[in-house]
Amino acid sequence: MNPLIDSHCHIDFAQFDHDRGAILERCRKQGMRALVVPGVTLEQWPALQSTVERFTDPAYPRLLPAYGLHPCFMDAHSSGDVDELDAWLHQGAVAVGEIGLDRFHDSSNLDRQLKLFKDQLSVARSHHLPILVHARKTQDLVLKLVKESGLQSGGIMHAFSGSLQQAQRAVDLGFKIGFGGAGTYDRANRIRAILRALPQHAIVFETDAPDIAPSFAMGDRNSPENLFRIVEILAEVRQEPVDQLWSYSSKNLQELLKITF
Ligand SMILES: [Zn+2]
Repeated sequence: MNPLIDSHCHIDFAQFDHDRGAILERCRKQGMRALVVPGVTLEQWPALQSTVERFTDPAYPRLLPAYGLHPCFMDAHSSGDVDELDAWLHQGAVAVGEIGLDRFHDSSNLDRQLKLFKDQLSVARSHHLPILVHARKTQDLVLKLVKESGLQSGGIMHAFSGSLQQAQRAVDLGFKIGFGGAGTYDRANRIRAILRALPQHAIVFETDAPDIAPSFAMGDRNSPENLFRIVEILAEVRQEPVDQLWSYSSKNLQELLKITF
């Protein structure tokens, strides 16, 4: 059986400073082999990198770093940051992210978001790296820009919140669709319908911890440990055995991110 991989987890964030090692050890014991840790700001990348370097013991899952400039932190970014990104990627990363466009939290700076996203798309393209996409109320725009960029390496639509048609167009462009805590709520009809409709090769799982707490931990700090129960619930939604979900989601991630165990 393939191991479980959390495809999007901010385990480097301060919310985990007091129990990060214990959480990761328990994740590994239950069968999690890797977590993808996305970058959000230039200022955060060194802490991300040192977290990754601190947990190389086989008692822990592997931490796979990505570097990127998140659209919800526009005030933290400055004009030279994309050049820095290019340099950081040379140190080794599985993806560029998380990057994208967000019209839900703040649409007043959309012009700056657009420029930043386009610039990072071209960096990803030159490094032949997949991208981790954050898109809120911007699915069509993101897909258009990805297409125009000529990016061939695909990526992950993280915490997907679009329509089935948009998901299918993303899959046609080489993307996987990320499902997590949001799909554990009984009222999540739209997400669940998309999860049921997509083929196995399009699906990956994530926690986005410490955010997007699942139904069984509502109001709490989310944790990568919750991924086991999240995938059990999503297996019921898809009416497939849970080990199959582990298996194909991991296979999808290993191919996309070019990782081997
Ligand atoms: Zn995130």
